[in-house]
Amino acid sequence: KVGMNVQDLAKLLHRDATEIIKKLFLLGVVTNQNQSLDEDTIEVLAADYGIEAKQKEEEDVADIDRFFDDETINEEALEPRAPVVTIMGHVDHGKTTLLDYLRKTNVTAGEAGGITQHIGAYQARLNDKLITFLDTPGHAAFTEMRARGANVTDITVLVVAADDGVQPQTIEAINHAKAAGTPVIVAVNKIDKEGANPEQVMNELMAHDLVPEEYGGDTIFVQISAKFGKNVDQLLEMILLEADVLELKADPTQPARGSVIEARLDKGRGPVSTVLIQQGTLHVGDPIVVGNTYGRVRTMTNEKGQDIDAAKPATPVQITGLNEVPLAGDRFIVMADEKTARAAGEERAKRAREEVRNAGSVVTLDTLFNTM
Ligand code: GDP
Ligand code: MG
Repeated sequence: KVGMNVQDLAKLLHRDATEIIKKLFLLGVVTNQNQSLDEDTIEVLAADYGIEAKQKEEEDVADIDRFFDDETINEEALEPRAPVVTIMGHVDHGKTTLLDYLRKTNVTAGEAGGITQHIGAYQARLNDKLITFLDTPGHAAFTEMRARGANVTDITVLVVAADDGVQPQTIEAINHAKAAGTPVIVAVNKIDKEGANPEQVMNELMAHDLVPEEYGGDTIFVQISAKFGKNVDQLLEMILLEADVLELKADPTQPARGSVIEARLDKGRGPVSTVLIQQGTLHVGDPIVVGNTYGRVRTMTNEKGQDIDAAKPATPVQITGLNEVPLAGDRFIVMADEKTARAAGEERAKRAREEVRNAGSVVTLDTLFNTM
């Protein structure tokens, strides 16, 4: 430690100060009780006593990613959690229709009252089991979130219209799911339509490694009509089945952490953010760092607009109380106190500004050659 004197060191080593001074003298260092010692001297002396002196590494307050390390998880406290599902597929194949149907018919929290709000995510229920759906279909959102480090999706539902088959964005979606390492469940949609050809869709998808079980593969296919709700419950069942295989668990006992699903500025309430809790339990009043901003959770509501005090893993909630609007995909973590949260948030914002400034001044080979 810097600034340690002989007396401090003597105490630390459980030795007499005079003994230390004598030892130092033999090592060629003339000193007295109050003289502060440099690091090297301390190290040499400690080594003489058979102790390895190590500078205590200063923890980086701005590094919130370290809290996402699996090592911080308490195995004993793990509990099953709901799967988080993203719906992807080619334009007009029925993503929005499916999400709307699910929201209308299966939205939970439906414990009386409340009008469904679009907060970017919601939970559906089948036989008392919950499934969290991210409400922003679209590959851009998915990629953007992943680019920011948020890997929130457990299962991808790939919607393919039975009357249109595999299209460019279908393949793009498959590649996104592969990159994210999530299993894919295929929802062959619009089977109510004339000209629907689910067999053809299956054949086309096999060329992309999505092989149905009846052909010896392990991809689940469900034939649905999102418009009429046909077999949608069966789709939910298959999602839960896949979730069972994944054995999704989380530790609700620790301070909450997770990712931002979406965020905006509300005129009256300030920054309003939908966050997905991935570990721990989030409480109203929690001091929090979110991306490059911070705050204290002032209010917390579910997708029905109902106030809640606490939210467990895999639950999406809308929170207020942040200083600024975070970005989709930003990670959040609850801190010990507001002061630490503020310090971390401010340091992160400062570093982000510096990064932007530095990026602006970088001379690339291209610009260099262009000016030559
Ligand atoms: P998205 O672009 O993937 O979100 O597709 P939409 O959900 O907006 O659907 C595109 C069109 O297909 C809309 O006119 C829907 O009403 C229609 N559609 C979606 N699902 C079905 C279905 O199961 N059957 C029929 N007949 N039409 C559907
Ligand atoms: Mg849509």
